[in-house]
Amino acid sequence: MRTPAFNIHTPSTLDEAVETARKLADKEIEFDWVSGGTDLIPNYKWGINPKSDVISLAAVEEIGGVSTYRIGAMARLQDIVESLEVHPLISEAASSVASIMIRRSGTLGGNLCLDTRCFWLNQSETWRRSIDYCHKCDEGTGADCRVIPNQNELCVATYQGDLAPALICLGAVVHLASSAGRREMPLEQFFQEDGITRNVLKNGEIVTHVELPKSSSSVVGSYQKLRLREAWDFPEGGVAFAVHVDKKGNISGLNMASTGFESIPRSHKDLVDSIDMGAEWGLEAKRLGVELKRTVRPVLNTWFPPSYRKKMASVLAKRAMEEAANRVTST
Ligand SMILES: Cc1cc2nc3c(=O)[nH]c(=O)nc-3n(C[C@H](O)[C@H](O)[C@H](O)COP(=O)(O)OP(=O)(O)OC[C@H]3O[C@@H](n4cnc5c(N)ncnc54)[C@H](O)[C@@H]3O)c2cc1C
Ligand code: SF4
Repeated sequence: MRTPAFNIHTPSTLDEAVETARKLADKEIEFDWVSGGTDLIPNYKWGINPKSDVISLAAVEEIGGVSTYRIGAMARLQDIVESLEVHPLISEAASSVASIMIRRSGTLGGNLCLDTRCFWLNQSETWRRSIDYCHKCDEGTGADCRVIPNQNELCVATYQGDLAPALICLGAVVHLASSAGRREMPLEQFFQEDGITRNVLKNGEIVTHVELPKSSSSVVGSYQKLRLREAWDFPEGGVAFAVHVDKKGNISGLNMASTGFESIPRSHKDLVDSIDMGAEWGLEAKRLGVELKRTVRPVLNTWFPPSYRKKMASVLAKRAMEEAANRVTST
């Protein structure tokens, strides 16, 4: 499969990058951002919505860097894994992404902005043509969604990035920039429930970095992932659980977030708020798992059937809560 030809733009500063985007948008030229290219380029090779122009962020140094409370969008996943400054929950989630070769190219920004996935879409162009395509990449056919037919509006492709739940649990804020200015928001508000739009980014806007609150240093957490092949597969489900421990060593708060079950990663703060801190932790972990299983709504568009992924939501939540508790005890 050949990568389709495109015009590549290589800005070296953030201002230059957003200005390049503005100029292309003014001329009504469609474009994509590319960071590590480990998601975008395979999609281009498969003919999934390639654009005539691509703006590479590879030389924009100011949006790189890895430190305790700030991780740049261009930070490579393997640098996040190996950093001694990054919160261990983020490193744990990053270490579960793909394989080391992909992590050396893949970035935080690309991971957060990862395209949603669906087995009716992530196929070669020839295969998709044989089924007359689907709504997300319809090649002008007006094709319907294959997962939820008879509605030509919503794409329910699954978000399968690993980093988002860990970052959400730690209270991360995502920073965005465009030629119109800058803005920021809690990471969970960044994602938008549609497999095509995916997030709140406007045309020409990029993720520059995420910022962690100082309070994240007092969090002990665990990330649990379900995937077909441990070697490199995307999450069929992932759950991060976080325990805030105060200076006296007491638990002062809990958080949980998931990925791989729906079109967006989700915070489950409401579920963990119902945990009875006086009750036996193992029983509460089991109850939490049942609650998460009831809450998540996977559809039939990844390797494992929705019924199995729902069951595993329960297992992953229990494991994440128990493992986080073990780590609190051993710190
Ligand atoms: C075999 C294989 C296995 C994989 N397994 C996993 C896995 O287990 N878990 C997982 O999470 N991912 C997995 N991935 C996906 C991917 O490698 C990672 O998510 C990686 O972090 C993507 O980063 P990137 O820089 O390569 O993104 P790119 O491919 O450069 O970009 C991805 C998307 O984000 C947009 N984008 C990139 N940077 C920005 C930015 N700063 N601002 C706005 N938009 C931006 C691009 O336009 C594109 O739409 C896998 C990929 C492969 C090929
Ligand atoms: S969820 Fe529907 S529209 Fe979206 S990629 Fe899958 S089949 Fe296509």
